[in-house]
Amino acid sequence: MLKAVTTSEPLPPRDEGLFAVVGRRRLAGPVVLFGLLTALAALTEGAGLVLLVPMLAALDTGAAATGLTGRMGAALAAVGVPVQLEPLLLLFVLLVTLRAALGMARDLAGLRFEAAAIDGLRHRAWSALVHCDWRTIAALRQTDASSLIISSIDRVGYGVRQLIALFANAATLGSIALAGLAIAPAIVILAGVGGVLVLLAYRGLRRRAGLLGQELGEAYSNVHAALIEGLGALRLIKSFGREQAALEGLDDAFARTRRAEYAFGRDTGLARLAFQGAGAALLALVVWLAVRRWGMGAAAVIPTVALFARALPLLGLVQESWQNWAHARPALVDAVNLVHRTEAAAEHEGGRAQAPVAAIPAHLPPIVVERVTVRHAARAEPALDTVSLDLPPGSITALLGPSGAGKSTLADILCGLIAPDEGELRVGEAPIRGAARRQWRERVAYVQQEPVLFHASLRENLLWGAPAADEAAIAAALRAASADFALALPEGLDTVVGDRGARLSGGERQRIALARGLLRAPDLLILDEVTSALDSANEAAVTDAIRRLKGSLTIVIIGHRGALAELAERRITLAAGRVCDGTFAARG
Ligand code: ADP
Repeated sequence: MLKAVTTSEPLPPRDEGLFAVVGRRRLAGPVVLFGLLTALAALTEGAGLVLLVPMLAALDTGAAATGLTGRMGAALAAVGVPVQLEPLLLLFVLLVTLRAALGMARDLAGLRFEAAAIDGLRHRAWSALVHCDWRTIAALRQTDASSLIISSIDRVGYGVRQLIALFANAATLGSIALAGLAIAPAIVILAGVGGVLVLLAYRGLRRRAGLLGQELGEAYSNVHAALIEGLGALRLIKSFGREQAALEGLDDAFARTRRAEYAFGRDTGLARLAFQGAGAALLALVVWLAVRRWGMGAAAVIPTVALFARALPLLGLVQESWQNWAHARPALVDAVNLVHRTEAAAEHEGGRAQAPVAAIPAHLPPIVVERVTVRHAARAEPALDTVSLDLPPGSITALLGPSGAGKSTLADILCGLIAPDEGELRVGEAPIRGAARRQWRERVAYVQQEPVLFHASLRENLLWGAPAADEAAIAAALRAASADFALALPEGLDTVVGDRGARLSGGERQRIALARGLLRAPDLLILDEVTSALDSANEAAVTDAIRRLKGSLTIVIIGHRGALAELAERRITLAAGRVCDGTFAARG
């Protein structure tokens, strides 16, 4: 018995860090470079501030070089810088320029880190999706996946920018604190304790930012759903006269995002207001204490004020970036959950060249479906119930039955797109399971009622499934599919087909899709309701094509009672997931 991939059990949400998801190796280089440049830029900032002390002392030529100024003068003299205004000013200019250059290099390294993190995350999410088992993909709400990959990961990018700013500003703050310790240690220790208390006091706000971030994520998801579904349904909206409802749906979705954004903007504004008011009061208190209580001279007070004037806004920025990161973090949690959910249902990719794969016979093997049962999530009745049939090489079989009988599910099994819950698909003697499923899919062409064409030229659309095919092979496939009209177009195969092939008629799209399938030289061709929406001329063209193909590959025609189904020498009728009638003895 084959074990099905379970789609019904939701995985518990996983809160994993960016490094774990993107991969430490990928991020290690950019992080080390960023950390190094951040530390250097911060140190130059601190050194520039410390330099203010001897500079101010040098201005006051009458003052004795005692205490701190004396010690700094001695230190500067030891490295060959005389304590005179001009050399000190020159050193100051050099330090500021160096700091600016290091700051620029640090910001560029930050951008590199952000790109590595976000591209890495998007790559992993997309890769997890395309390698995911079809049943899990089918159970996902498509607009949720697109909203995650497009807007959530963008929000993670914004969050990473905030983290980068947080670290850069915290490092500068640390360096300023070190400089302050050299100038006025008591005040700096006091201010340090105050700073930590301020950051703790804002904890509740950061938690709220996280909740608002989660709400914003859900609101964005609604906007995506309204937009994508609305765009796909424009024709329906117009013909049902539902323009106003469509407009209101999107307006509502946008209004929800605006509400969440506004609430967060208000929190940020209030936090900034409180911070700036309290900061100014603290600065005034420090100046008052320094001058009135501790009797400090201008050479120490002015650098202290400069330290505070620089440190306070930095502390504000650290707080704000932290809050913004907390706001963006739910987007990372969402993205990580999508990655884990889809990776947990990954198809078996490993060992594509292993025994069961190699055992698929090379050309036109017999195909056997043996006692296959498929249950869809949250459905009591199975979509297929112990279905058995075999398709001899080169045969044409019509698969009939009312809607919901299980025809498309059986086609998915025959394609190797889904694995049965019970029973098996065999090609020749090879069971099609695990890695073999993907291998088998490469030998099957599936053409559906609404063919999928890309906004590209006809040639690109045809080569999409068989990139190595040459012009002769393309022409042969077009002729075999009764689609040689393409060669006679003014721009020939360079004709661009428009969105989803909109510049072609339904019948032309269908025949191009058939040619694309044939170009892969498949062993099995599945035609799922391909002519149901076509006029009789186009139906005749497709039927002619299939008649000419007879015997050269195995063909399954789904859901037809017309001319196409007449070509079939075998008919199987399904009802409620069971074979109820067949022109040959079906096992099971
Ligand atoms: P047909 O192609 O004959 O119309 P299907 O194979 O599409 O029938 O569907 C068979 C049964 O399985 C139906 O009852 C359908 O509602 C159900 N079904 C198909 N796909 C899914 C799915 N992804 N999730 C849940 N039920 C499904």
